[in-house]
Parts: sequence; C-alpha cells; structure tokens
Amino acid sequence: MKLLDGVYLSGLIRKEIAGRVMDYCRNEFRPPHLAAVLVGNNPASQAYVRNKIKACEEVGFASTLIKKPETTSQSELLELIHELNENKELDGYIVQLPLPRHIDEHEVNLAIDPSKDVDGFHPNNFGRMALGLPALKPATPKGIMMMFERFGIDTEGKHCVVLGRSNIVGTPISLLMSKKTRPGNSTVTMAHSKTHDLPGLCRSADIIIAALGIPLFVKEDMVKEGAVVIDVGINKILDSNHPKGHRLVGDVDFDSVSKKCEAITPVPGGVGPMTITALIDNTWEAFIANR
Ligand code: NDP
Repeated sequence: MKLLDGVYLSGLIRKEIAGRVMDYCRNEFRPPHLAAVLVGNNPASQAYVRNKIKACEEVGFASTLIKKPETTSQSELLELIHELNENKELDGYIVQLPLPRHIDEHEVNLAIDPSKDVDGFHPNNFGRMALGLPALKPATPKGIMMMFERFGIDTEGKHCVVLGRSNIVGTPISLLMSKKTRPGNSTVTMAHSKTHDLPGLCRSADIIIAALGIPLFVKEDMVKEGAVVIDVGINKILDSNHPKGHRLVGDVDFDSVSKKCEAITPVPGGVGPMTITALIDNTWEAFIANR
C-alpha cells in the first residue's frame, strides 16, 4: 500500500513555488499577495484561515487577514469585495466559508473579480474549467489532481466513483477526472445520498474519491483489492483516549480499507494540506496573469 502523503507533497510543491518567488523578488517585483476575509468567529474557519496565512509566509507571499464581525451586513461585505477587486497590490483573495446565515454566499461569490478568485468558485472560472479552458480551479479538486500527477497514479480509463456532489468538491472533481487530460480520462460516476447500492458501486471502482462528510463511511467491504482511495472528509469525532477528547477522521475507515488499497490518502495529512497548496498555486497563477 502506498501512502499518498499530502504533507510531504505539499512541502515539495511549496518549495518550488518559494523558489519562483525568490527569483521574482530578486528582480525587484513585489511578491504575490493573498488576502483572506473572515466573517464571524467560527473556530474551524479561524483555523483554516490561519493555516492559509501560514502557508503564504512559508512560500514568501505577502498576506493580509481581514477580520469582520459576525454582524457584518451583506452590503458592507460587498463593499469590501469591491475594494479588494480594485486593489492593484493584491493578486487574489478568499472569502472563508461558511458565511453567517444573513449573507447570501452566491451573491458574494458573484461579486469577486474572477481574475482574483483563487478559490475558483466564481461561475466564470467554474465554467471555463468545465469547458477545459485555462481557469483558477477550486482548490480541493486541484489539490487532488496534483496528487494523482505527482504520485504517478494512472487514472486513464479507470472507473472513478466520487461520493458527494457538492459545488466545492464532488462536482468539480468529477468534471476534472472525466476530462480528456492526464491525470483525468477516467470514467466517472458521481454518487450522492439518493444513489442506489452505494457499496456495490464502490466495489466496481478503481478509484474512490470520498467527499460526504460522514466519519468512517467507506468500509473495507466497499472497496475492491488494489483500488486507489482519496479521502476528502474532515470529521471531528469524540475519543476519550485522545488528550483533547476528540480526533479528526476522514470519510474512509483508514485502518481496514488501507489493507486492500494500492494507494490511499491519510486524514489528517492527505487532501487537507494539498487544498492549501493548490490555493497557493492559484495565487501564483493569478499573480503571473495579472502582471
Ligand atoms: P457537502 O455536505 O456539501 O456535500 C456532501 C455530499 O455527500 C452531498 O452531495 C450528499 O448528497 C452526499 N452524501 C451525504 N450523505 C450521503 C450518503 N449516505 N450516501 C451518499 N452520499 C451522501 O460536503 P462538502 O463537499 O463540502 O465536504 C465533504 C467533506 O469533505 C466534509 O467532511 C468536509 O469537511 C470535507 N472537506 C475537506 C476539504 C479538505 O481540504 N480536505 C475541503 C472541503 C471539504 P446530496 O447531494 O444528495 O445531499
């Protein structure tokens, strides 16, 4: 079994990006600049944003964290987005999700300048990706594609079952895997909560990409010998044996499933760090395109 170590691969790719940043700065260009907008006090969002800012520092990017109170109105947030769109010193920015309930995420997403949309959620980028045109791609699917490429996983002609159809993971990774690209060129089945006989479907898969948000959902008897399993899930479960009283697990029962796999991602340390690395890579792309 090959462990698809996202921490290791992220370190490698971030070093490459840091090298490019050094070359640019030597020529007196300013470094790439990413901003993160955080509305409210969601602890998970605070942790995600902290990690993104830390990754910027690691590769030599400038970063700005903009914290707004939970009570920020939709029009105030849209005004801030307008300012960020106009800011020539900024290459890309993210608005950390989820947003407070009184804010319409779709409207916010539409207001972001697609050339600065390093989360790749704007319809312009999403549509271009669907058409196979150059685009800023959503970070998690992009990070998974980087894993296939860099770890030399053959995806061509394989049956890939994607569990989940969200706009940020399931749908875009299904699209990318089905494209006439390398990696890609898979035959994709996108499953969801209404899919019949999910265990049987999973057993027919050469590649499983699990993005449901259900802890340890994919069990050993759902996976065929020699499958490649990508676990996107990040779930906190109670564990009295753990000093914190809880621990993080994926959507895949790693201990049993890994015994049957050709390759598998761990949680934590798999897709999570690759998502941030893909965000950093998108910021680099936006920086180059905006020059
Ligand atoms: P969503 O809740 O938006 O989507 C979950 C999907 O799973 C839905 O399409 C849903 O189907 C499907 N689903 C739920 N229950 C079942 C079931 N019993 N059988 C089959 N399908 C089911 O989740 P996200 O895509 O946003 O996230 C998924 C997981 O990935 C979460 O754990 C999240 O924390 C994690 N995540 C990790 C990231 C990383 O960087 N590692 C980044 C983003 C997310 P339906 O559409 O029918 O409701």
